[in-house]
Amino acid sequence: HDFDFNFLPRDIKAHLDRFVIQQDEAKKVLAIAVCDHYNHAKYLRQLRKENAAQADEVEYAKQNVILVGPTGVGKTYLIKHIAELIGVPFVKADATKFSETGYVGGDVEDLVRELVQQADGDVHLAQFGIIYIDEIDKIAASGNMIGRDVSGRGVQTTLLKLMEETEVPLRSMNDLQGQLQAAFEFQKRGKSKRETISTRHILFVVSGAFERLKQEVARRISQGQIGFSAGPAPAMDNELFQQVTTQDFVEYGFEPEFIGRLPVRVACQELNADDLYKIMKFSEGSLLRQYERAFRAYGIEISFEDEALRLMATAAAREKTGARGLLTVFEKLFRDYKYHLAGSGLSQLRVTAELVNEPRQ
Ligand code: ADP
Repeated sequence: HDFDFNFLPRDIKAHLDRFVIQQDEAKKVLAIAVCDHYNHAKYLRQLRKENAAQADEVEYAKQNVILVGPTGVGKTYLIKHIAELIGVPFVKADATKFSETGYVGGDVEDLVRELVQQADGDVHLAQFGIIYIDEIDKIAASGNMIGRDVSGRGVQTTLLKLMEETEVPLRSMNDLQGQLQAAFEFQKRGKSKRETISTRHILFVVSGAFERLKQEVARRISQGQIGFSAGPAPAMDNELFQQVTTQDFVEYGFEPEFIGRLPVRVACQELNADDLYKIMKFSEGSLLRQYERAFRAYGIEISFEDEALRLMATAAAREKTGARGLLTVFEKLFRDYKYHLAGSGLSQLRVTAELVNEPRQ
């Protein structure tokens, strides 16, 4: 069966709005990139049926994305929900994983094979998957450290090959069992079935904090302004990010070809206490739901006063880990309550401001 795609950018944005608070620009930009990407795949398939030769000649620059932003602000969450909505497999990895090991090529190709696993073995569907690579800024080559330089560029070159278009063997050369099975099948049937996965329609999203880049661009902009006074670097908002050029990325330590394959650029904002409050209160994926379920399993109905949520949001914002700070705060606050109240016969727990300020033992 063929993979079908029938979404509009606004459908995707509306879906993301249910789960992700803020990040409006990222939602829009991602929604457009995803629609362009899958509409193109659909167009090509149609054309191939009518005129195969012509289909082979169509030129297209893939809409791979660079997401810039701090940790815990919803980058992975956005991609995960997009993949879920449109029904394609999704794989996430940290770029640091590739530079630490010697066998770069194999690890990178493993990402593509993992898509097949995520698609329950459906190779056709896996070829329309999304690969998300975080901490991409860590594979920037730095001019003064030779060793790291080599591995950074090496990873970039390998990733570049995947982003362009390549055929990845379905079975890793390291996968002894897989190799044996292939040999066995070959003996039995005289030929083996489809052995490679094409990366042609796989969408790549990369992300990172790009701290140095942010400072650099902020400095360049403020130098052009009269009356500039040195202060802390401003947040990388989308206005600032518009000023980032390919040359900035190259100076940061990226190959021009690598950056050239990532034409869509957008920034995710830091989340403040008010955003964290809204995440608890309005996101369908809110941690509150999870805690409600956890307490309900012990026969306890937990409920939250707004003021308590405000206090928790403020505490979480101090952690400086984005929405992950909420996890830390919840865990600390409710650990003892879960332990002592479970099995105590209590059936209601009202979380008030006092309870947050002075948790009882
Ligand atoms: P990162 O930006 O580091 O990829 P994640 O997307 O993994 O961060 O966020 C971690 C978790 O925090 C998510 O699974 C989600 O529950 C929550 N979260 C983060 N950002 C948001 C947001 N903007 N709106 C709602 N929930 C969020």
